[in-house]
Amino acid sequence: MTQMITSFDPSNGQRLGEVEVASPAQIAKKVANAKLAQRAWRQISMGERVQQISDAYHGLERRGSELPSLLAREMGKDIGRATSEIRGALYMGPHYAEEAKRALQTRQLHGRTELQYRPLGVVGVISPWNYPVMMANNLIIPALVAGNAVVLKPSEETPLIAEAFFGELAKRLPKDLLTVLHGDRDTGKALVESDIQMVAFTGSKAAGQDIMARAASSLKRLVMELGGNDPMIVMADANLEQAARFAVAGSLENSGQMCTSIERVYVDARVAEKFEQRVVEIASMYEVGPWDQPHVNVGPMINPRQHQKVMSQLHQAQQMGAEFLLGSAEQSQPYIRPTVVRGITPQMALETEETFGPVVAISRFERVDEAIERANASEYGLGAVVFGNQGVQQVADQLEAGMIGINQGQGGGGEAPWVGAKQSGFGFHGSIEGHRQFAQVRVVSK
Ligand code: NAD
Repeated sequence: MTQMITSFDPSNGQRLGEVEVASPAQIAKKVANAKLAQRAWRQISMGERVQQISDAYHGLERRGSELPSLLAREMGKDIGRATSEIRGALYMGPHYAEEAKRALQTRQLHGRTELQYRPLGVVGVISPWNYPVMMANNLIIPALVAGNAVVLKPSEETPLIAEAFFGELAKRLPKDLLTVLHGDRDTGKALVESDIQMVAFTGSKAAGQDIMARAASSLKRLVMELGGNDPMIVMADANLEQAARFAVAGSLENSGQMCTSIERVYVDARVAEKFEQRVVEIASMYEVGPWDQPHVNVGPMINPRQHQKVMSQLHQAQQMGAEFLLGSAEQSQPYIRPTVVRGITPQMALETEETFGPVVAISRFERVDEAIERANASEYGLGAVVFGNQGVQQVADQLEAGMIGINQGQGGGGEAPWVGAKQSGFGFHGSIEGHRQFAQVRVVSK
């Protein structure tokens, strides 16, 4: 019997539609078809591949506002952010493809030896729900430019927007070159174990560990973009207004459901009172509600499980003595109002785990070394941010993360990679080095 996944609007539980779950036999068939499509795709020049990819993205642009409103409704983000995500993904198509083409050019080495970047075969892309278009997009483009075929397994929370965006993109590319198949983690597992050559994954650490184990038997290539628990340090001589604004924006963006969300704020005790007061004032201005209401910038949690996880961390913090300056440990589904808590200790889950909710979690420190130690105590190392003046560079130098922001957010943008350290993953995308992760390096001596 055909299994279906039903998609719901997280703000009101309304049913939005359903998609068919791919059976193991269908997965095998789609991967086999992708393999055939890849054989033809790898024969054409990289310039021609980039042209076809760019044309496919330009074709999608004509779909107008339909994609942002579907994204907003299915994921729960406000329409402004949904529009930016779709626009960003459409811009990235041709732009990233050009960048990947430059990165993957054959290079002449010494004498008559050259270094080539060859296709791997079929790449399985497995993606999360929090940026359901952007995250998959970033992995699909370099994989295709390198001459691979792609089979995408999007999140079971956001299948409709994945189908609308990538299903349509696939129709504008050679048949079977890009395939979207649906299902939950079991479908993801079956895809990892199928006859693909690489897994490019964005999602949780737990899923990443399972994927690594399953990929081991045939030594599949891996790109792992995993979770984070990003710290922010506010030094005594920081511009407090800028720091407070950043702490709130960084903690509440996408309702806190972001891998580089500011999860922990360490502030120098000498300026803490003033900083905390501004954080509360700024966070109070955020409005909570469904995607189609004006001025809303904090939406619902993606599902009851995620709501429950955030609330249980807040509840535990309260029991262990944390003080709520805004919001509370009792909030009913599906929303969580912007919540500001101070007095976080290293024993609390708010400090040790990824929260993924609209919470500004503040601790005070006496010496900056303490803050650095606590910032680095996490198993994750995605981003880290420090605001300050004298000695700010030395503090930044000691932070263990793939992306560091000094008096601004992390992530260089432009041609910088999106990269995590420690258990936030390995392999990455973006930049010359990132695009090369989707190819097999081959040395040819003539
Ligand atoms: P998730 O790991 O639960 O699911 C992600 C995807 O993997 C889904 O498509 C899911 O069906 C699939 N999946 C789950 N278990 C699997 C398994 N064992 N084998 C194969 N596939 C499996 O993550 P989520 O809840 O969708 O997303 C939130 C997480 O993603 C957070 O931890 C967040 O930090 C992380 N994330 C990281 C980045 C980054 O760039 N590093 C970006 C966005 C999100």
